[in-house]
Amino acid sequence: MKTKTRRALSAGRSARSPLGFATRSIHAGQEPDPTTGAVMQPIYQTSTYRQPALGSGWPYDYARTINPTRSALERNLAALEGGLEARCFASGMSAIRAVLDLLRSGDHVVVSQNVYGGTYRLFEGLLRSFGLDFSWVDTSSPGAVLAAIRPTTRMLFVETPTNPVLGITDLRAAARIARARGLTLVVDNTFLSPYFQRPIELGAHVVVHSTTKYLNGHSDSVGGCVVTTRKRDAERIAWLQNAVGAVLSPVDSFLVLRGIKTLALRMERHQESALRIASWLKRHPRVRKVHYPGLRSHPQHALARRQMSGFGGMISFDVGSFAAARKFLGRLRLCALAESLGGVETLISHPASMTHGSVPPAERRRIGVTDGLVRISVGIEDPKDLLADLEQGLAALGKTRR
Ligand SMILES: *Cc1c(COP(=O)(O)O)cnc(C)c1O
Repeated sequence: MKTKTRRALSAGRSARSPLGFATRSIHAGQEPDPTTGAVMQPIYQTSTYRQPALGSGWPYDYARTINPTRSALERNLAALEGGLEARCFASGMSAIRAVLDLLRSGDHVVVSQNVYGGTYRLFEGLLRSFGLDFSWVDTSSPGAVLAAIRPTTRMLFVETPTNPVLGITDLRAAARIARARGLTLVVDNTFLSPYFQRPIELGAHVVVHSTTKYLNGHSDSVGGCVVTTRKRDAERIAWLQNAVGAVLSPVDSFLVLRGIKTLALRMERHQESALRIASWLKRHPRVRKVHYPGLRSHPQHALARRQMSGFGGMISFDVGSFAAARKFLGRLRLCALAESLGGVETLISHPASMTHGSVPPAERRRIGVTDGLVRISVGIEDPKDLLADLEQGLAALGKTRR
């Protein structure tokens, strides 16, 4: 590979890179190992480095601060999201925590009302006691966002699509508001991955991920990352990564790097199967409501088409009641009853009693998490096998339409 191309791959702002996404996902930030030519980034399983001489300026000092396996993943993620820098953390939650640590006591944050449950727990259960204040609003309404902004507001934190009903926030509109009011726009891009949505290209300042989900994609690692676009944020996140120390391990960094190499292929298959399953569920007499941004019936289908390059692999649908959901889930053989998402295997869950169990019932109803709602993370198995499993599960609910 020519040096110029290599440099483009390492720096890798996607908007400027001449290379396609799949090419960048395999090569960006990764050089063949200088000692052996190994094409895969080695796992540097070391806590420290022998320095050549005192004051030599050797870049490797201690592995909390810098690790070559982690650095390769960080360069790769920065290139895929089109950011300036990425930093990897021990979990999605520690990545989100690092972003909130950009703020100081007294600051106010406007947050999507329907974010990941752990984000709600962190903000309300911990960060509020350190003097941060939060307003939970429907960020799909620009008017609601504007109305929530105060003189102390510093950040707009958006998750789109939301879990589990897949509501969508217009990121260009959110970015316009953030710029006009001097706020930092942060987007949790876990549900779509940079393959289907690149918030930075739409005006976001910071992107966060739980790499546990689609980026790693094989349900065998927990991790997170923060991608920044501004020098001062990049420096502060790097400082926080070292100061707090919740870093991604070398082995996990390797696993995520390997997972990302097939991200484009996996996302295509997740989406193809999800679209097929969502359309099938929509026609099924035992299913009341299907939430999937790829269906024309989704209230924000047009917006989804504009800002996303695909609809992802997450579907939720209503089977009518808690009893029906339990019966249906109890019958499934292939789809695994489990939390989490984004892996190669199909996972199915009951948000009202699992991921959203700690949300009060009235609040659950308000955000659309009904007792009969079931969520699927569609895996990359043969879709006909998934459909057969879902069909025999729904058959347990009897013939009559609910
Ligand atoms: C899973 C998830 C997180 C938290 O990530 P962990 O890796 O589990 O700590 C944050 N945001 C979203 C949207 C998630 O799905």
